[in-house]
Amino acid sequence: MTTSFLHAEGGCTCGSVRYRLQRDPMIVHCCHCRWCQRETGSAFVLNALVERECVDLLQGEVVAVPTPSASGRGQTIVRCPRCQVALWSHYPDAGAPICFVRVGTLDFTERCPPDIHIYTASRQPWVCLPPEVPAVDEYYELEDVWSADSLARFAATR
Ligand SMILES: [Zn+2]
Ligand SMILES: [Zn+2]
Repeated sequence: MTTSFLHAEGGCTCGSVRYRLQRDPMIVHCCHCRWCQRETGSAFVLNALVERECVDLLQGEVVAVPTPSASGRGQTIVRCPRCQVALWSHYPDAGAPICFVRVGTLDFTERCPPDIHIYTASRQPWVCLPPEVPAVDEYYELEDVWSADSLARFAATR
């Protein structure tokens, strides 16, 4: 599981926006879907799921950019208004109470390895997945993967 990064801080590239996480993530996704590949310009995205109320904006302001998504229901990507780096996203199912924090914007990204690889059906063929980390072709049922503590935290945001 994720190494603790309580009070981990992160920010955008231009330095306008800084944030701090009050809690460890409920789970960390490594998403290999084509949409994340396009949005990052890379092979996958790393998202740490944390309650919105546990993400403190320390400095600057953010803009919420409505963005199409694979589901057709859209997502909101929260960005720095100046450098436009994506800091976190909100997806329709989890909604506004849950931030999908872009792990690459944390100061110490190495503390946050993925708990599960998702949408591996569209994984780039040169990306080798470690056998000890769960991986699914598409998505999964939360009850099958999340810890009891994380499920309780998620339920508390509903
Ligand atoms: Zn910025
Ligand atoms: Zn994705």
